[in-house]
Amino acid sequence: MSLPWFRLYSRIIDNDKLSLLAFEDRWHFVAICCLKSNGLIDEPDSNLRTRRIAAKLGVQVRELDEISRRLREVELVDEHLNPVSWDELQFQSDNSKERVKKYRAKRKANGLSAGSETYQKHLPALMERDGGACVYCRSKDKLCIDHMVPVAQGGTDDFDNLAIACKACNSGKAGRTPEQAGYEIVTKQAGIALSRYVTVNVTAQETDTDTDTEVLEPKGSCASDDALKPEHICEKWNEVAPTIGKPSIRKLTPERRQLLKARIAQNDLDDFVAVFAAIKASPFLRGDTGWRGCNFDWVFKKANFQKILEGNYNG
Ligand SMILES: [Zn+2]
Repeated sequence: MSLPWFRLYSRIIDNDKLSLLAFEDRWHFVAICCLKSNGLIDEPDSNLRTRRIAAKLGVQVRELDEISRRLREVELVDEHLNPVSWDELQFQSDNSKERVKKYRAKRKANGLSAGSETYQKHLPALMERDGGACVYCRSKDKLCIDHMVPVAQGGTDDFDNLAIACKACNSGKAGRTPEQAGYEIVTKQAGIALSRYVTVNVTAQETDTDTDTEVLEPKGSCASDDALKPEHICEKWNEVAPTIGKPSIRKLTPERRQLLKARIAQNDLDDFVAVFAAIKASPFLRGDTGWRGCNFDWVFKKANFQKILEGNYNG
């Protein structure tokens, strides 16, 4: 599986294992994470794979052996150069290909145009309407098509919702409307188009109360958001649930979303991983001793989560 980006803890700066390494090896570790992310590490073991990894790191194969040994010594990678605990720290939903696929299927199911490429056909007309420059800053550098009302907020590929934007403005705006992002639309025609679009679509958007689990990254959009989200935790729970004898959850209800948001605000991913591991290790929480109350909704209540985290159910 290839990921366009991967998670790296900010607290890695305080990581004991890393601080035992020479500066060069710290970079080698990050480089190996990149190669894990783009799929090279997952290729079958072969001389070619080894040579390609060495080339990417800019070292000789012999040196790669040494690097691998040193990183293994501090338990940052395994014998195949897989970063330790990689799967626990990354999420399937980080894979933008998967997300876009899901997003398209969902749009199709709702009778909307499914392809992100369909709006690209408006490019020449948009360039003409917007004078071949970013509608937010008039830059002509690295232009792309912006969904003024972002797709993640229900914005569609309608011509009136599209505008020319430079990559910088498009990224800065991320999943927000121009108003939410504090962007002024300086191109008159684009502003008129948006107000017309919003007027027409406001009813449709208001009725769309579906808890949207997809985050869109269409072609031409440079937005990405790697903050921990309730969806991530649900995904992780459903991944772990069968292995700890718990039912997976089918719906992220508003109550559950609220619960998870509160836990996310107070805990980081480490804590969630630790809680799942603690449940797995506790016969009581697993339900082996007869009590079956430890389910999704119970685990993420503040007091319960904290008690599990502090090891109150160990042994
Ligand atoms: Zn711009």
